[in-house]
Amino acid sequence: VPLGEFDVIARYFSRPSNRADVLLGVGDDAALLLPPPGQALVAATDTLVEGRHFLPGTPADAVGHQALAVNLSDLAAMGAEPAWALLSLSMPAVDELWLERFASGLHGLAEAHGVALVGGDTVAGPLVVTVEVLGFVEPGRALRRSGARPGDVLFVSGWPGEAAAGLEALRSGALAFGSDDRRVRRFLHAEPRVRLGRLLAGRATAAMDVSDGLLGDLAKLAQASGVRAQVELGRLPIAPTLAAHHAPADCERLVLQGGDDYELLFTLPPGEATYAASIAAEAGCPLHAIGTIEAGSGVVCTREGRPEPVPVAGFDHFPRA
Ligand code: ADP
Ligand code: MG
Repeated sequence: VPLGEFDVIARYFSRPSNRADVLLGVGDDAALLLPPPGQALVAATDTLVEGRHFLPGTPADAVGHQALAVNLSDLAAMGAEPAWALLSLSMPAVDELWLERFASGLHGLAEAHGVALVGGDTVAGPLVVTVEVLGFVEPGRALRRSGARPGDVLFVSGWPGEAAAGLEALRSGALAFGSDDRRVRRFLHAEPRVRLGRLLAGRATAAMDVSDGLLGDLAKLAQASGVRAQVELGRLPIAPTLAAHHAPADCERLVLQGGDDYELLFTLPPGEATYAASIAAEAGCPLHAIGTIEAGSGVVCTREGRPEPVPVAGFDHFPRA
């Protein structure tokens, strides 16, 4: 007998949580949550549509992981600590094997970050996954895109470009979903930089997560801050895996225009730039100074100090809604 809607919720999405701030989770008409006094509630939601945000045939655990990861990344970029999540799931039929794997990807990442799934909705329809994440940040320490000032140092975390390389390899058939190649794993199981975001809260002047490509997202930060961002191409971090498999120009394109790694872009005042090195170990990733903030507008690239035309942002690795 196929599972009904309520069996699906009970079997896959009702997990006991040990968070004391969840007064009532899955099972009633709505969740009852107790935010800590004096903290700002931070809310983000993202929808993944099969064929648009993930490739048909993507392993279900990766879909579950990614649906939560994109939202955790948004909270990280605000400097927030994630606490609760809601899941709206539309799917054509009850496929128990798919659900089992989807739930394990979602719950695995949720548990890693101490996030409780407190509610959602389950409906029949095309495969569409919407997750909402709620968290907290001290109101005065929240990270915005708008605070970068001339003289600030521009940083990017980790190894941007690997996920985009993984997606390209999956699309061309060069690598399969089951590959243990680092590029594929980073695309399917990106790790949102939540700890880094917490360490930057109250310290960085501006921050955002890179979801659509470093240059394009940096342009948004520059615009929000009313400044110009200068990127020194020679300082871009080229992940060893990229250097091993791609020509140098291709590495640069992947780093500048690839998305989906969910690295953080952030700025620190010049006197605070050494703070980045001091938190890298705790954040779990290297932090690279790749440029500076100047008066003006837009994004400029330099190579050894000399201006170089910004590469055309024609790399739309995933058509987005
Ligand atoms: P209602 O009809 O009152 O909206 P539902 O029958 O849709 O309630 O859901 C019953 C309970 O299960 C609610 O607490 C809801 O938040 C939860 N729920 C439904 N679908 C999911 C899901 N996919 N993940 C987590 N919780 C869910
Ligand atoms: Mg409902």
